[in-house]
Order: sequence, then C-alpha cells, then structure tokens
Amino acid sequence: MKFLCLRCDEVMRFEERQLPGDGTMGVVFSCPVCRREVAMLTNPMETQLVSSLGVQIGGRSVPTQPLELTRGNLQEGRGDAFRDDDPVPAGAGLRVEWSGDAQQRLGQVPSFVRGMVKRIYADYAREHGITTITPAVMDRARSDLGLEGM
Ligand SMILES: [Zn+2]
Repeated sequence: MKFLCLRCDEVMRFEERQLPGDGTMGVVFSCPVCRREVAMLTNPMETQLVSSLGVQIGGRSVPTQPLELTRGNLQEGRGDAFRDDDPVPAGAGLRVEWSGDAQQRLGQVPSFVRGMVKRIYADYAREHGITTITPAVMDRARSDLGLEGM
C-alpha cells in the first residue's frame, strides 16, 4: 500500500504509526518534496482487513488478529460468494438469504474481499434476526458498523 502526493507525483514516506489498542490504527505519511502530510485512519474492521491481507505498514506487519480465518478463505480463492454454507457461529442457527438486488450489490465488491464483506453482512443479519439481506439491510449494517467507506 502506497500513497502518492498528487501535486509532486512522489511516493509519500511513512512517518508514524499509532495502535491505540482499541483496534483502530492511525498511520501518517508525508511527501518528501512538499512535506504535505496524510493520515490514514482505520476502524477495527478495516485494521483487521489490512492485517488479514498481510499489508506491511512502516516496515512491520500490523499485529495479527483473529481474522486470519478469513485470510485462509481468501487464499483458497472461493468463487462461491453467494453460497452460505460457512460454519454458523454457535447459537445462531439462522440461515441468511440474499435478495436479488443485494446479490447484485455484493457482486460489485472486489472479489478479494467479497467473502469477508459477505460474512460481515451475514453475521450482522443473524445478530439482528434478519433472514433476508436486502440493500436496505446492507445500508443499515454499514452505518451501524461504521463501514461507510467499504
Ligand atoms: Zn508533495
């Protein structure tokens, strides 16, 4: 992952990383030419995404977190994003269906994160007793979970 200073067309340099311990991450990059600074802030979900993709930031990997499981799934290159035969979390016997337009919207998610995104929505639906995921449910999950950027 790199940041480019558009004004100078320079790769921005890593300056500082903060891991406050609550799952969020803040990383500062600066342009070596014009000194403009950019900060990348990630919420816990995004921090795990970065971590699960093995992205190196500031020369070190983000500490490994429980989403390694998802990474394994990604490496298998599952093309069955719309099937829902993943192991169901204990206590949640609910089977979640995807409406046609929700499937279509999920299809717009880049394939390398689709499995994870799908799981986030499915878990959200199960936790809320929702049996059919529609675009409206996806919108609600995104705002509830602070995933507007995803
Ligand atoms: Zn610059």
